[in-house]
Amino acid sequence: MPIDQPIYMDHAASTPCDPRVVGAMLPYLSSSPGNPSNRNHRFGWEAAQAVESARKQVAALLNASPHEIIFTSGATESNNIAVKGIARPPLPLGEDGRAQRGQVRAQISSPSSSRPHIITAATEHKAVYDPAHTLEAEGFDVTYLTPGPKGAITAEMVEAALRDDTILVSVMWANNETGVISDVPAIARLCNEANVAMHTDATQWVGKMPTDASRDGFDLLSMSGHKIYGPKGVGALYIRDNERTRALRAQTEGGGQERGLRSGTLNVPGIVGLGVACEICAEHMDDEAPRLAKLRERLEKGLLSRLDGVHINGAEAKRLPHITNISFERMDGEALMMVATDVACSAASACSSMAVKPSHVLTAMDVPEQMALATLRLSLGRSTTEEDVDYAIDHIATAVSNLRALAPLLGLG
Ligand code: PMP
Repeated sequence: MPIDQPIYMDHAASTPCDPRVVGAMLPYLSSSPGNPSNRNHRFGWEAAQAVESARKQVAALLNASPHEIIFTSGATESNNIAVKGIARPPLPLGEDGRAQRGQVRAQISSPSSSRPHIITAATEHKAVYDPAHTLEAEGFDVTYLTPGPKGAITAEMVEAALRDDTILVSVMWANNETGVISDVPAIARLCNEANVAMHTDATQWVGKMPTDASRDGFDLLSMSGHKIYGPKGVGALYIRDNERTRALRAQTEGGGQERGLRSGTLNVPGIVGLGVACEICAEHMDDEAPRLAKLRERLEKGLLSRLDGVHINGAEAKRLPHITNISFERMDGEALMMVATDVACSAASACSSMAVKPSHVLTAMDVPEQMALATLRLSLGRSTTEEDVDYAIDHIATAVSNLRALAPLLGLG
């Protein structure tokens, strides 16, 4: 039966805003226009109060202290501040007391100083992976851990890569393509013992799984509003109040907001929405995770029973309950996306300069190129029902079977 609009199974890409989030944001888009940095009138105070109240809501979700939270434009910016901000040395001050910018590169790459070492993973989101490459170009030595087929980064892998000159370890908590979970608390314990700053990109984890800054040990954590039923364009960075994060350097200069670490007028409606989204996630988490795990199992079992040559990437590892990453043998990924249009999901391949490339995450998990190119990521969310899952199974299984049957006729098989 045809449907009005595709079934949304792309919650790892973005989630719809909860109506309660939208309601809380509305006044700050119109009747309450104050800039929280302006303390000269009621509107400014109101905005500042709203921001501080959201800071408490975000901190509560992480069991952190409000003063350890700064607001950003999303997880991309949080990751950039954390990774570059820890790595790049404080700017030397000139006689006039101003920063001497030209000296930084020289400072890192001078033959007399060692090249400080950073550990991250080949499976990181580009928002960590690319900053790590930038730092490499600036003279840092970067180790990219590769997880192999399971997809998880373990404390043992990090331990084997740690050196006396390691200054930062950045490992994502849960992977955005596969949902595979790495043991961040164990990695953080190791880093604490070695006195190395530990950052985690927890964009897919936070709000879905319990997070406790006082128990889990990370020094820095990135999160984003639009993955947790909040607005797009807003996020937060948790910065533990300790010696390792004290030298964190701002990557954007300007008005000095957010303790000087993230200049720019605060996105008050977005921040208010993020705060409410955090509160709602805390309410839903205990029920939602097992519900989604059951639906995901139904989806995977359904596809495995209808089709041969189906592989669930990362199935051997612990995974977030709502993401599945499925490769199909004897299939052209692009053709599949064009045919299975009733289910809105992601292809785990990226188009760049007209060439379709396999995902760097799947490549790091040793998934063969043809399979990596014929992969779908389906991610479920609060509105997903059993009927949606059954429809998706039937729609995808039919599309794959039809394409496989057609392939020899089209000269593709
Ligand atoms: N990290 C991960 C793991 C993500 O999934 C995403 C979003 N795809 C980001 C970072 C970037 O987040 P934002 O869109 O908030 O910049």
